[in-house]
Amino acid sequence: MEYISTRGSAPALDFMGATLAGLASDGGLYVPRAWPRFSEAEIAAMAGLPYAELAARVMQPFVGDSLTPERLRELCVAAYGRFAHVGVTPLVQLDQRQWVLELFHGPTLAFKDVALQLLGLLFEEFLSRSDDHITIVGATSGDTGSAAIDAVAGRSKIDIFMLHPAGRVSDVQRRQMTTVLAPNVHNIAIDGSFDDAQATVKRMFNDSAMTGRFAISAVNSINWARLMAQVVYYFAAALQLGAPQRKVAFSVPTGNFGDVFAGYVASQMGLPIERLIVATNINDIVARAIASGDYSCGVVTPTSAPSMDIQVSSNFERLLFDAGGRDGAALAEQMRGFEASKAMQLTNAQRTRISGLFTSARADPSDMAQAMRWAYEKCGQVLDPHTAIGLHAARAAEGLPADVPVVTLATAHPAKFSDAVERATGFRVALPARVGDLFEREERFTHLPGDYAGVAAWIAERATPRNAAG
Ligand SMILES: *Cc1c(COP(=O)(O)O)cnc(C)c1O
Repeated sequence: MEYISTRGSAPALDFMGATLAGLASDGGLYVPRAWPRFSEAEIAAMAGLPYAELAARVMQPFVGDSLTPERLRELCVAAYGRFAHVGVTPLVQLDQRQWVLELFHGPTLAFKDVALQLLGLLFEEFLSRSDDHITIVGATSGDTGSAAIDAVAGRSKIDIFMLHPAGRVSDVQRRQMTTVLAPNVHNIAIDGSFDDAQATVKRMFNDSAMTGRFAISAVNSINWARLMAQVVYYFAAALQLGAPQRKVAFSVPTGNFGDVFAGYVASQMGLPIERLIVATNINDIVARAIASGDYSCGVVTPTSAPSMDIQVSSNFERLLFDAGGRDGAALAEQMRGFEASKAMQLTNAQRTRISGLFTSARADPSDMAQAMRWAYEKCGQVLDPHTAIGLHAARAAEGLPADVPVVTLATAHPAKFSDAVERATGFRVALPARVGDLFEREERFTHLPGDYAGVAAWIAERATPRNAAG
């Protein structure tokens, strides 16, 4: 399988190249040259497979020659063996129509583990074929940092430097990062907001003094391999609910549009998805774009679902590319306009194709609390704030055929956001036993002021230069 950039001018790469590159050199995002498609019989034959086997089967067409089928299977078994539930992503029924897909049984209690556990192994596998050493630099508002650190801790050809805004992540989130004491893990608490930390990281990617010496890499959801790994659980859920004979709808708590784009990929591969419901909080840029074609940035308002508090949904570009007929030059032009003015209007073709599958809904804080209370009081299920926003959108969806089940993706364990859960339901969730000693573990991190030069120097002193082994 070959990967091309959404902006049309970066070189095409194979799966290994696209995984290691992250962002394309023309500023675009890598997508497969064509969507692989399964027949109805092939999908029916996947029913009942263990999760790791299903994962290998769904991902094989994307991986192509970069891994043998046997090696891919081994990596899936290793990645998903670390989950605390034998089904990896179990499905829970709430009422006659509503279901919840629990994606939070990984090591750091959020759905990001599903993709990052595999990505860590893919990095290691591909780096073992060369003399390269990579330096992952990232900024996190919470969930991505801990999932990425867990996925690469102790891997010899990878260093990870994770910046979090000092004092602005929860104690659970900080400890999930700072109690990992492996020598290749470097946590930096930096003065300022998440946006300041993010700006420091972006500057480093454009700093030729740094990129010349170090192979700096990213693990955010612009990385194609992350989306690919997320396609699998759409298959897992739909198969359990009767696919391919029965259609299924999904409601997805959305921030950067990676998770819900994976659902779109599943539908392009032949999975019969009736509808994808894009659920946002009051930071609703994608909900507005889908409802009215208006994609324009506002100011981010902090909420109790912080992983959805975003300005720009990077992965929306992948959908715009596909819906616009895969014209890289036209999309590059559209994105240049957006980057200059922070606003754009979708074309009629984009709007028509997107509205064939997607709807959107936005939940304000009281909608979120109400959905959390309904699940707790009527169904005995405790949901985190992100999942509650998805459930609100799922229950508000109109016009679905009566026999179509609606699956809300549960993106985080409620214990990660126990204060917000307690405020809405009166119930205090405990951390699961497997992470129960988090508050007894030793922490290690460095506190740095916000200036770029200081951060770059600190990283340069500790990172391993590219081709160090060569
Ligand atoms: C990252 C995250 C999201 C948003 O997912 P995207 O792929 O960025 O749309 C939603 N909920 C939780 C808990 C997350 O960590």
